[in-house]
Amino acid sequence: MLPAMPDFVLRSRRVVTPEGERPAAVHIRAGVIAAVGDFDDVPAGAPTVEGGEAALLPGLVDIHVHVNEPGRTDWEGFATATRAAAAGGVTTLLDMPLNSIPPTTTAAHLAVKRAAAEGQCWVDVGFWGGAVPDNAADLKALHDAGVFGFKAFLVDSGVAEFACLDTAALAAVAGEMAVLGATLIVHAETPGPIAVATAALGHADPRRYATYLASRPPAAEEQAVAQLVELVRAHGIHVHVVHLSAAGALAQLRAAHAEGLTITAETCPHYLALAAEDVPDGATAHKCAPPVREAANRERLWDGLRSGAIDFVVSDHSPCPSDLKRPDDGDFLQAWGGISSLQLGLRVVWTEARRRGASLGDIARWMAEGPARFAGLERKGSVEAGKDADLVLFDPDVESTVQRDELEHRHKLSPYLGHTLAGRVVATWVRGVRVQRNGHVAGDPAGRLLERT
Ligand SMILES: [Zn+2]
Repeated sequence: MLPAMPDFVLRSRRVVTPEGERPAAVHIRAGVIAAVGDFDDVPAGAPTVEGGEAALLPGLVDIHVHVNEPGRTDWEGFATATRAAAAGGVTTLLDMPLNSIPPTTTAAHLAVKRAAAEGQCWVDVGFWGGAVPDNAADLKALHDAGVFGFKAFLVDSGVAEFACLDTAALAAVAGEMAVLGATLIVHAETPGPIAVATAALGHADPRRYATYLASRPPAAEEQAVAQLVELVRAHGIHVHVVHLSAAGALAQLRAAHAEGLTITAETCPHYLALAAEDVPDGATAHKCAPPVREAANRERLWDGLRSGAIDFVVSDHSPCPSDLKRPDDGDFLQAWGGISSLQLGLRVVWTEARRRGASLGDIARWMAEGPARFAGLERKGSVEAGKDADLVLFDPDVESTVQRDELEHRHKLSPYLGHTLAGRVVATWVRGVRVQRNGHVAGDPAGRLLERT
């Protein structure tokens, strides 16, 4: 029995559900998926959107986005970031605690951020808190205020107002996480190997990508993951490795999983799509930390993703004004590290995934269901009755070349400009409200500000 008249029905020959892909009619009422019925189960008179052969996916859940507002709104902002999200099929994002000023390190700062975001989000937005050396006394109130967990750095974060934790401070934060029952997400590079490698660069040409790559060796990530595995063992908390690049750390993650330790990891579109060998001299749009590594490393990350050693894929959208990328001298060592890809992540990952035989069901697990489950977003991440009607109509077979003027990001800087990608986002709905129509952001900002439940 299907429920009473839906507000509208959205149907496609390719609805991607947790059980697989099938022709279905998705009934939407009051912003919620009321039912996923057979293709022909459409009540007489119900408004119907025909998706045809385009696939209907759950809206992507991107738990790693740097919005930067307030304080560095000239880098990105809630309006531009969430418009990019809507255009790219991302219906929920979680904002990182750093690069905005203030950083999200106290409950008062969170209130400032929420006030800045209010009314200008096209998709749903939640917030991570930050754990820095001087805010131990603030963590509980920040947790109570609804952040989804806490982010910490083991190495210089790149901004002065968000300091990294030394070993003692990290242990203290872990103790507090255990008390709160909170998740700790960590930028997993240690400073030691980076300092040694940087000292060894000598007068290597800073315009060459290889110079930058040599300065951030895999050992920095591997050492950090070892430290985090030990932290989980000692404190019994959930630790999450953000933006894993070094495939050498996968063995440690697999061993930790076999031991039953609660450590998870994400990787990002750029680590799955780009390769160090292909980065032209001076092409600093490719700079991020940890770095994009060699093609062989990339293939091992794909193995990690397919095998479950890596849990999911998120953008780590980390934009900046163009001049901070040093376009004039192409100096990789001085350029800001961060890749903008919030709007393109679905197409980038799909392009690479289909080349390797993965399915749209895999995309849904890696980019919607997995991150939603990780963050405790129980209403998000899958096309199922009872979930929010966060949906993306995606034509997987169309190919197009990325153009600057299609990007909603504040700065149209991306390593993917000029790349030919598979897939087109035909439409995006957030809780049943259409926010993207044929490549253009539509309607009013319908996004809500989310709290951890
Ligand atoms: Zn980040």
